[in-house]
Amino acid sequence: MERFLTTGIKDKATKELYYILVVDATPTISILQNPIGYLQGITAQRSELLRSELNIVSFKDLLEHFPYRHIDRTKVDKISSIHPNQEYAYVAGKLLQLEIAGTGRSRRLIGLLKDDSGVLELVWFQGIAWVQKAIHAGHQYLVFGRPGFFMGKPQIAHPDIENFTQQQASGKQSLEPVYPSTEKLKARGLTGANLAKYTKELLQKLSEKEIPENIPDDIIQQYKLISRFDAYQQIHFPVSEKLYQQALRRLKFEELFYGQLRMQLIKMRRHRFSKGFTFSTVGNMFNEFYNHHLPFTLTNAQKKGIREIRQDTASGRQMNRLLQGDVGSGKTMVAFMGMLLAADNDFQSVMMAPTEVLASQHFESIRTYITHLPLQIALLTGSTPAKERKKILAACADGSIHILIGTHAVIEKKVIFKNLGFAVVDEQHKFGVAQRAMLWAKNEIPPHVLVMTATPIPRTLALTAYGDLDYSVMDELPPGRKPITTLHRNEAARPQVMDFVRTEISKGRQAYFIYPLIEESSKLDYENLYKGYEEVKAFFPEPKYWISMVHGKQSSVQKDVNMKRFITGDTQIMVSTTVIEVGVNVPNASVMVIESAEKFGLSQLHQLRGRVGRSSDQSYCILLTGRKLGNDAYERMKIMVATGNGFEIAEKDLEMRGPGEIEGTRQSGAVQFKLASLVNDKAALEAARASVENILSTDPELENPGHIMIKMYLQQQKAKTKWSKVG
Ligand code: ADP
Ligand code: MG
Repeated sequence: MERFLTTGIKDKATKELYYILVVDATPTISILQNPIGYLQGITAQRSELLRSELNIVSFKDLLEHFPYRHIDRTKVDKISSIHPNQEYAYVAGKLLQLEIAGTGRSRRLIGLLKDDSGVLELVWFQGIAWVQKAIHAGHQYLVFGRPGFFMGKPQIAHPDIENFTQQQASGKQSLEPVYPSTEKLKARGLTGANLAKYTKELLQKLSEKEIPENIPDDIIQQYKLISRFDAYQQIHFPVSEKLYQQALRRLKFEELFYGQLRMQLIKMRRHRFSKGFTFSTVGNMFNEFYNHHLPFTLTNAQKKGIREIRQDTASGRQMNRLLQGDVGSGKTMVAFMGMLLAADNDFQSVMMAPTEVLASQHFESIRTYITHLPLQIALLTGSTPAKERKKILAACADGSIHILIGTHAVIEKKVIFKNLGFAVVDEQHKFGVAQRAMLWAKNEIPPHVLVMTATPIPRTLALTAYGDLDYSVMDELPPGRKPITTLHRNEAARPQVMDFVRTEISKGRQAYFIYPLIEESSKLDYENLYKGYEEVKAFFPEPKYWISMVHGKQSSVQKDVNMKRFITGDTQIMVSTTVIEVGVNVPNASVMVIESAEKFGLSQLHQLRGRVGRSSDQSYCILLTGRKLGNDAYERMKIMVATGNGFEIAEKDLEMRGPGEIEGTRQSGAVQFKLASLVNDKAALEAARASVENILSTDPELENPGHIMIKMYLQQQKAKTKWSKVG
């Protein structure tokens, strides 16, 4: 029957669709959705364990629980050859004895395994009763695990262990998978070997129909990918190392391809369906400011950013743009020009900043920008007095305030706008997704949204985490800036550092001393800060020198007073925690001393350093650390000294910490790949992105016969998500 129905259809994909739609009318119910309990040997108890420990519920989950390596069963290690740097050892031998040692918390089970070269100690701290039942002295076993050395002797804790059979000794080459597992699973007798057995059984049940191709043929050809079905077989039980690599390559590509596809589909839909205000005119405000009051010549990057905002806001759809620029690239001006466009079209604007210090600074600079324009501006933060706050809220609601600047106080429910058309989120990585979304909800038609970040994001990460946003990159600093000289010094050089700061101050410049704040509430951190303050004061005594101190525990009035004294030059030195980190702009400051610099991450160091180098004079950043540094910390200092380019630093940060740790993307599921890595698979990501763009530009609805498999696959994935939400 199947044959009959599909004869005459030449195209393979159409045939497939026809088969699924007509022959098998329930395409989303696949054998892959079966619970793993359907496999032989998986009891209810084991099902539950697999779910709670590894999140494996269905056949599909098991299939996608990939091995992290394979071992060659024909190559066992000699016990005498095991060395400390060996990641895994695989040993065959006879179990000489198996005995309990120690009592209470140090109670453990110790086995001695002997081969013809030596003796290996095996240790279990948990699941002792189970191990005692499963293995016995006098028998031959195969043992696998990460070797450690205890008093110079090799030892494996919680090894994978199995019976030694003649077949395994026969020398037949086979690569066996090793799966990620947990101590608890091992303790309950569910070993990697068990997982391999279940997976093998599952693969035998599956035919090509259950693992259909989901990448179009021309792309398969272009990148020489093996088929999806083969890839799943070979990634678990490869026939050769080469085939394993091909399987890995294929599945990584698939992962990246579908990641990009989802992002670009979301973006495309938003472009097509989102309704936004149309800023049809460039009017008096914009032109007057642009032609007569610009305080400096715009950089090309700034002009480009403004042009992009202009195009987006005139398009009739809602703008959702990420403005990425290195510290000091002049993003504020770009945002402000957007606000002028809004005002020209009778819309209000709002700008949200993560700290009060920053919000009031934006307020001050924008207030000076609009001196000659008929615009009203207000500052709203958590510490705005109730009376003033009431006035501001009323003026926002009746439309007499054109630009509102503030902290997250501006997204509170009580803040109502008459006609909000343009919303700016500064330093967006400091806010959560939900907070940004609240800005949208301020109007029936959402305002245009510009999010800005000065933590450059590596391109791979931007593509995956923010692929659904439009984004502008500002890769140019205002002219005349000298690169900041960065030095790494240790504690012992403190007197020289202080002398240096003194020389700079004598030239009329100002300096920052920054102390790490690990936890906002930690008492110890503040003690360190106050100690640091006293220390700095000892070197720079009043009345010749004056010092401002700012930290998170101060009231905003205190913060403000101290900040202002520094901005106006009344104080020459600012001692602070990282509240200064984002955005603050005091061009006359030329020295940034970062205390205990080893305690900061790369992007934070870069942010802090960005507080200086804001004028045409030479600026300095001094990284003070302890004498002894760990490898990672040393590497960070080296990178900071070597480059001032935020994008380069972001790449290094990604390499050193992995994508999950980069600020602002932590919660984003988009960067959690099973196989692909944003550090190592850049080329594959670019290829996947290009393929997706190609497909969507010619076939946005995925209706070409050759693309229907994509649609089917997306639908299937969707069905699965819904399912798991219900469960
Ligand atoms: P960021 O991009 O880090 O937010 P800011 O907007 O705070 O940077 O700008 C940093 C400093 O550079 C400010 O003092 C600002 O006035 C100045 N600036 C911005 N654009 C230019 C320009 N085109 N030419 C000269 N100075 C500029
Ligand atoms: Mg800024």
